Amino acid sequence: MADSSPLDNMLAQMERAREYVDIDDGIFERLKTPERTLTVSLPVRMDDGSVEVFEAYRCQFDSARGPFKGGIRYHPTVSKDEVSALAGWMTWKTALVDLPFGGAKGGIICEPKDLSEGEIEQLTRRYTEGIRRMIGPDIDIPAPDVNTNPRTMAWIMDTYSMYQGHAVPEVVTGKPPEIGGTDGRVEATGRGVSIVTEEIFDYLGTHVGDADVAIQGFGNVGSVTAQLLDERGANVVAVSDVGGAIYDPDGLDITDVLDYVDDNDGRLDGYEPAEEISNDELLTADVDALIPAAIENVITVDVAERMQADVVVEAANGPTTFDAASVLVDREIPVVPDILANAGGVIVSYLEWVQNSQQYSWEVGEVNRDLEDRLTMAFDEMLAAYEEKEIPDLRTAAYTIALERTANAHNLRGLFP
Ligand code: GLU
Repeated sequence: MADSSPLDNMLAQMERAREYVDIDDGIFERLKTPERTLTVSLPVRMDDGSVEVFEAYRCQFDSARGPFKGGIRYHPTVSKDEVSALAGWMTWKTALVDLPFGGAKGGIICEPKDLSEGEIEQLTRRYTEGIRRMIGPDIDIPAPDVNTNPRTMAWIMDTYSMYQGHAVPEVVTGKPPEIGGTDGRVEATGRGVSIVTEEIFDYLGTHVGDADVAIQGFGNVGSVTAQLLDERGANVVAVSDVGGAIYDPDGLDITDVLDYVDDNDGRLDGYEPAEEISNDELLTADVDALIPAAIENVITVDVAERMQADVVVEAANGPTTFDAASVLVDREIPVVPDILANAGGVIVSYLEWVQNSQQYSWEVGEVNRDLEDRLTMAFDEMLAAYEEKEIPDLRTAAYTIALERTANAHNLRGLFP
């Protein structure tokens, strides 16, 4: 069995959910393709004086439920199809957690590790110029994703604001708090992952405090998830980054690992207190929960067949291929789907946007409470659909809710002209 592309996976997930929910044929056709995708070429003057041209995209998938919303990633594997899939997933994610947003995604094909900070700033500003006619606080609100962060959002906000002639903080979320970002946004995705991990353990009749957990990816999402699960008493036994994985059956000292990574250029390699293992060994380790927190298509059919984890919590977008997910259903390994598990980020983005619109700021406790309420409510709704409609897996249950909400919005709004 071959593993399919992220876009094929997303479309297959939609088709599968359609078996359990009644959606008009014409509306379903509209839901399968993005409203628009802009491709831009970005010439950048490099530090050595040469000019390099980067290709980038912004895909606006669906806006029936509100302005487009979704992050921007910097990665060598970005492609037009990949951003379409990611923008589709944003659409189903915002619908599932019931935010008044549609879905979008952007990406620049680049390897940020090979670029200086100045080059990344130039690239970001030129990209913002390239997409500025299609974004705006009521139109499309970007945010961080893989290899982008609050610093990147500050450059986007500044570039957009310069063209407008005044500060427009609400054009992006995930900003530094000094310029309109909200406290709690940096941790939000990882916090959400830790909340749903606790919820799924409770549902399965076990306890997160007794669990051994492996986390693939140690960027913003993976590292915060490791910290918060550690605080909840879980044993984080393995973590990995692009350079490889580290493993300690007694549980890693996460604070020590974080300190090490801070002093080691952001990398895990050479961390002596733990054993070095391969990424494949991490994915197939004998743990209670496996949390993929990096990029798409890491849980392939081959990995799914050998996996020893009791549950998968998808912190990344699209980490499990469609066929691998079917293997996990057959093997009765539950998967908390990405569109719920990593929705904490966009939930707090929404809270940031609301605060910006009101020129008001909330304290972090209020932000975290709101995040937890919205996420647990969506978790319960997903479980209710799963049980009531006798759906074989949680992802399909989540999709029935998301597709129905988006289709209803299309139905109510009708077809223009
Ligand atoms: N990039 C994040 C995601 O995939 C956050 C998007 C946002 O906050 O708009 O959900």
